[in-house]
Amino acid sequence: MKIGIDIGGSHIATGIVVGKGILLGKESKDIDIFKLGSEERVKEVILETIDMEIDILLKRYDFKVSDISRIGLAVPGSPTETAMENLVNLHIKKFEIGKILAEKYNTKIKIKNDGKCAGFAEKKYGALKDYDDCIFLCLGTGVGSAVFLKGELLEPKRHPGFEFGHMVIQRDGKECNCGNKGCWETYVSMKRFKREAIEKLKLPEDMESIELQNYIRKNMDKKDTQELVDELITNAAIGMANLINIFEPEAICFGGSFVYYNDIFLPKLKEKLKQYMFNKDFDIKLVPAKLKNDAGMIGAAEI
Ligand SMILES: [Zn+2]
Repeated sequence: MKIGIDIGGSHIATGIVVGKGILLGKESKDIDIFKLGSEERVKEVILETIDMEIDILLKRYDFKVSDISRIGLAVPGSPTETAMENLVNLHIKKFEIGKILAEKYNTKIKIKNDGKCAGFAEKKYGALKDYDDCIFLCLGTGVGSAVFLKGELLEPKRHPGFEFGHMVIQRDGKECNCGNKGCWETYVSMKRFKREAIEKLKLPEDMESIELQNYIRKNMDKKDTQELVDELITNAAIGMANLINIFEPEAICFGGSFVYYNDIFLPKLKEKLKQYMFNKDFDIKLVPAKLKNDAGMIGAAEI
């Protein structure tokens, strides 16, 4: 069996993957990096959490460490073969986690960009199974992505590439965690959307994501809610139309917390995209992710 680990901006999830992309079981824990402080402490907590989750899963399913044929990590940023690197949302510059885990678990370790892992799983087992030319976009804290042309995942030799979240859509725009200004990610991050919604709609500071979803759904007829959503959709459409014009995919699959609003967002997005797409006659398929939060773990184990 394989272990797939998904390290996100706010949680670490570990799963046991068997057969063809079957997630036997998983463990997940939230981490609040702002409370952790230093980069060193963030690294410690990541390792502690991974060890704990693997331990729980091995016990639950009666496996031994020697049963693990490989461990795959889905991580943000630009990982190398042995290290996590450039994780702007986790405030980590470089973390040689591959060697540590290889020594501890005496198995093969693979570290890949999280967007690529989730996209790989959706392409192989999920919503993109039937498309040769397609794009996976994970819109959550940041933007994760994977592009497939003629069925193959596009991968540059150096760095993961496809940092769509950091394409600049606004000159001198909002400040991004990467140090640049006007990155697409700063306009479509669901984390920023939540913060903006709370501020502009004067909602309680500690509002949970699910409460916000319900609020927006109930108040779509109100002008301020509509404006907030339209702003997000326009910005999402600008970035996506750029991608469509470059890659001409048959379908775009959405993951991340964006999918929780699919019923409201997708029809609006489809309409707005027409304004910016070069080939306006093309009917692009917008499809929600099927494997949802499991995609990163399954992809990490299998990519
Ligand atoms: Zn950026």
